[in-house]
Amino acid sequence: MPKILCDRFQNCYFFTKKNEDINGIDIHNELDKCNSIKDIFDLVKDCVKEATRESRAGLDIGLAELGNKPNALISAYYPFGSNIIVLNMTPLRRIMETKPDILKPYLFAILLHEYIHSLGYADEEAVREMSYAICRDIFGEGHPATRLSLDTKEFFPYLIYPGGHPTGNELRVIEVEDIDYIG
Ligand SMILES: [Zn+2]
Repeated sequence: MPKILCDRFQNCYFFTKKNEDINGIDIHNELDKCNSIKDIFDLVKDCVKEATRESRAGLDIGLAELGNKPNALISAYYPFGSNIIVLNMTPLRRIMETKPDILKPYLFAILLHEYIHSLGYADEEAVREMSYAICRDIFGEGHPATRLSLDTKEFFPYLIYPGGHPTGNELRVIEVEDIDYIG
């Protein structure tokens, strides 16, 4: 556990109880049951609250076509101080075309990372460590969410279009009617 993490996080539930349940909830199972980006985001918020006792409300998720370069990808970003997490649509579409079974782990890892930023953690390395620690403790070391939380590069064949993909203009905030977006 890196020194950089806050005390609350070091004392978190996940590091003292080595199983996959929080409050009797099996997270693997909960992730499988998610039917939308919002469901996954709610699960992320529950896990972070369990791990750090921190939470915040009033965050939107926006979808934008941010494209990808032949060897680079911005999966998502959180404009610091804002109330929106912007998800790049491009890798979501690419995943659905290449390896749909990593869609939920991918969304979990990416939303977790940005959500931790939104709680006021600006340091990229610290956020990565926190995301990784949470994923590892609830899903295990080899789970795609855990691997994605450290680095998405390993999964680039499923996330990026090899020849690159252009950026679009639209930013769409997810509403309730997008509940069926996944699958
Ligand atoms: Zn970040």
